[in-house]
Amino acid sequence: MKRIGIIGGGAAGMMAAITAARQGAKVILFEKNDRVGKKILSTGNGKCNLGNLQLSRQEYHSTDEELLTDVLEAFGTRETIQFFRSLGLWLKEKNGYLYPLCEQAAVVLDALRYELRVLNVEILYEATVTHIRPKNYGFVIHYTGGKREVDRVILAGGGCAAPKTGSDGSCIALAADLGHKIIPQVPALVQLKCKEDYFKAVSGVRCDAVIRAYTEKELIAEEVGELQLTDYGVSGIPIFQLSRQVNYALLAGRKVTLRVDVLPNIDREEFKLLQTGRNLLLAERTVEEFLSGTVNKKLVNLFIKLAGLKPTTNCEAVTQEQLSKVYDLMKEWTIEVAAHKGFDNAQVSAGGVSLKEIDVRMESKVVPGLYLAGEVLDVDGRCGGYNLQWAWSSGYLAGVAASKD
Ligand SMILES: Cc1cc2nc3c(=O)[nH]c(=O)nc-3n(C[C@H](O)[C@H](O)[C@H](O)COP(=O)(O)OP(=O)(O)OC[C@H]3O[C@@H](n4cnc5c(N)ncnc54)[C@H](O)[C@@H]3O)c2cc1C
Repeated sequence: MKRIGIIGGGAAGMMAAITAARQGAKVILFEKNDRVGKKILSTGNGKCNLGNLQLSRQEYHSTDEELLTDVLEAFGTRETIQFFRSLGLWLKEKNGYLYPLCEQAAVVLDALRYELRVLNVEILYEATVTHIRPKNYGFVIHYTGGKREVDRVILAGGGCAAPKTGSDGSCIALAADLGHKIIPQVPALVQLKCKEDYFKAVSGVRCDAVIRAYTEKELIAEEVGELQLTDYGVSGIPIFQLSRQVNYALLAGRKVTLRVDVLPNIDREEFKLLQTGRNLLLAERTVEEFLSGTVNKKLVNLFIKLAGLKPTTNCEAVTQEQLSKVYDLMKEWTIEVAAHKGFDNAQVSAGGVSLKEIDVRMESKVVPGLYLAGEVLDVDGRCGGYNLQWAWSSGYLAGVAASKD
């Protein structure tokens, strides 16, 4: 019987443990927290968006898209649904997003925990793995509390995002220590701080927008969705989605600006017509009254100020160019990104152990007998259940291969 040591009791580690134990392996799970699956509880705002019916590699970033595709094809959405059914968990979907039927992340964790118990997986709690030493055959795992000898190791300790849940990057360091190449990590699916000092005035505004991120003149990302303005800068799903590209640009020392169109459903031509009508009908009002009803009130006030106008000035005393400036800001409001909100606030980390050094069975090409799964690898997905899907897919393949080889 193979003895498999799994580092990390998160989504990927628990999936690997259940899979390997079902294949008949003796599994020891090392978890630095006093319980497993802490991060799962906060996923999907406590509802756990654990997968998506529209699964494709376009939803992910990685240095090896071919391997990524192979993994998702080997264990995708259908297999994930079947797996959870085998644990007794009913799922539902909303716009393609998969959730547990009762919309409680805690039941997903319970289902995994019960199965670990039924399969007699040995769980060592408060057991932080500090180093792993390969032997002629197998490995010695050193952890706070002692050492254990195993035949195979699965590294599933996550990346650097949300370190309070346990994933503090130490598992990536273990892989580096074993000779793996590490792709630099940045927070992804995270809020962005902006340089402008006026954000307090527009904090709380939510509006549909197209957001384009630029470094100098190069467009690096574009997203559509509900933008949320906060006292430090910008948030919301579209900001989360483009944050990884922005953060890699910031890491490279580049200046990043966001150009925001807060009237995304009105094209330039229609916009010109609306402007003309407005200019004819409302010319006798004050600037503030004139622009009322275009975009959110707080934004109108900000744009008036940025165009160098006073809200109380009568429109007749204002030039067409000055009014055009306000209109231009509605279609292209430019702000500069100062920084991200850090790994503490990120849902996932981009970067990690290079996927190019892993084969499709999730085995390391650098250290035979070592397998890797989940966010420790340089794969990060978009919002929509894709990151947990990666954890289930890679965890499953690692569990099968480690127990069989
Ligand atoms: C707030 C939030 C909301 C999210 N919502 C969603 C969502 O709705 N859908 C989605 O798909 N994804 C979501 N994600 C992302 C998703 O949760 C992660 O990508 C996924 O859980 C990663 O799984 P993992 O097993 O690789 O790592 P983790 O879940 O981070 O687990 C790693 C485990 O390893 C342990 N560990 C680390 N180092 C060591 C060590 N040296 N020794 C022993 N143990 C160690 C940690 O304590 C931890 O328990 C969200 C993330 C956050 C933070």
